[in-house]
Amino acid sequence: MTGAADTPPESGHRPARSRLIVLAGPTAVGKGTVAAEVRRTHPEVWVSVSATTRRPRPGEENGVHYWFVSDDEFDAMVARGDLLEWAVVHKSARYGTPRGPVDLALASGHPAMLEIDLQGARQVRGTMPEALFVFLKPPSWDELVRRLVGRGTESEAERERRLETAREELAAESEFDVTIVNHEVHAAAEELVALMVGPGSTRSD
Ligand code: 5GP
Repeated sequence: MTGAADTPPESGHRPARSRLIVLAGPTAVGKGTVAAEVRRTHPEVWVSVSATTRRPRPGEENGVHYWFVSDDEFDAMVARGDLLEWAVVHKSARYGTPRGPVDLALASGHPAMLEIDLQGARQVRGTMPEALFVFLKPPSWDELVRRLVGRGTESEAERERRLETAREELAAESEFDVTIVNHEVHAAAEELVALMVGPGSTRSD
């Protein structure tokens, strides 16, 4: 396994094996693409579908990429305690992880993965400290900027806001158990899955 974080996890507060992986990282590092690759190549891994108040992009399907919900529906989910974590991302829409499906996946023994932002990862750290927290990192800052600009779906102001968020999020790497560098999507997905089901799933720390 390559890419272990420089800072080792604190000892003693996590079991040797983790069935729940929380994948986070800066804006545009490719978390969603890596999560989609895990879904595509490893059906044995259950990948959470988040609820969001943002509008679907072309090609996105309700229940596949996200559960697209109204503000009122999101409020109701929060009020009922249905969300394991939730956050306002990029100061625009709300995103949250439905709790029930995660519990079901774990209870049925499936390895499970959440792909969420840093604020959400910190919340899950508080409630499910037994999870393994994985930081997906770009090969370089320049590459991250290139990916942000390359996506081309945001306005100039939005891109600046995302870069600012990315700077803050990159600084959070040391809070995570493991770092994976996203040189190439398939390889990053394989590294992730190996942490759950492969030889790397039995951790010695
Ligand atoms: P996008 O709108 O581009 O699909 O995603 C924007 C951001 O929202 C990404 O950084 C993604 O990781 C984050 N995100 C997606 N689902 C969740 C969620 O359930 N909870 C949290 N906290 N963040 C999420």
